Amino acid sequence: MIVYLNGQYMPHENARVSVDDRGFLFADGIYEVARVYAGQIFEWEAHLARLTNGLRALQIEIADTAALENIADRLLNENKLRSGDATIYIQITRGAAPRAHAFPANVQPTIFVASKPFKQHPATYFTDGVGAITYADNRWARCDIKSVSLLPNVLANQAAHAADAFEAIFVKDGVAIEGSHSNLFAVVNGAITTYPSCNYILSGITRRIVLELGKTIGLPVREAPILIEEIFAGAELFLSGTTTEIMPVTTVDGRTIRDGKPGPVTKAMEKAFMELIERSAASRAA
Ligand code: PMP
Repeated sequence: MIVYLNGQYMPHENARVSVDDRGFLFADGIYEVARVYAGQIFEWEAHLARLTNGLRALQIEIADTAALENIADRLLNENKLRSGDATIYIQITRGAAPRAHAFPANVQPTIFVASKPFKQHPATYFTDGVGAITYADNRWARCDIKSVSLLPNVLANQAAHAADAFEAIFVKDGVAIEGSHSNLFAVVNGAITTYPSCNYILSGITRRIVLELGKTIGLPVREAPILIEEIFAGAELFLSGTTTEIMPVTTVDGRTIRDGKPGPVTKAMEKAFMELIERSAASRAA
């Protein structure tokens, strides 16, 4: 695969960053993952807006964020990804400079963009649902920044894998906040519920779409805390994310949720989401 690094296109194995890169030393950077369906980038503008907000939060200035779309498009062409499913990965760090905590002067940010084919999850994840575990939310209070500082997410997700589960749900004060790499939804009292958009979650682009699709499937949506006890009392659960899409959760901490099958709201949401993707890919291609 060809990747982009600091103005140049090169084979992935030739791409190198400095050991002084602040992404390596301090996790001083952000990233984005966008999905490509039928060769077309899905929700590009939303990903770019979130990236731009992240750069502003970190006070990293890059010359031309709009150029990232051209880079992504060129990678899709060069890597022959203009049909089928793929992902675009973008990482921007403050750049390389001798190690000192405060921002260095006159440093060029490191910009890395890659694209690769997307290997879809096994179909059974969607037809049967996946397992999740609960995990104490020990993250910082700026989870709204898509920081490459993902250690808590890595440890949580590893705990899920070790328990043969797909996702770890971060829990704080008896409230389910979000997944290690996805947002969480529960159907509570007939409303599609998810934790409010604030500094304690990464406000997912798929999450926003799910909230918008509530209208299409004719159910109210609510941004409110989901109590762990509501989950174990049998709330229908699903995850949302760029690579996770809409994924039913049917066990939590090894306990069966409801009847152990994906619920009707989840199925309706999955269908509405797939229809939206098809419409969007068709209109981008046109
Ligand atoms: N929360 C976290 C912690 C994530 O890492 C992700 C995936 N990037 C999400 C939520 C879902 O966000 P999106 O729908 O934009 O992929």
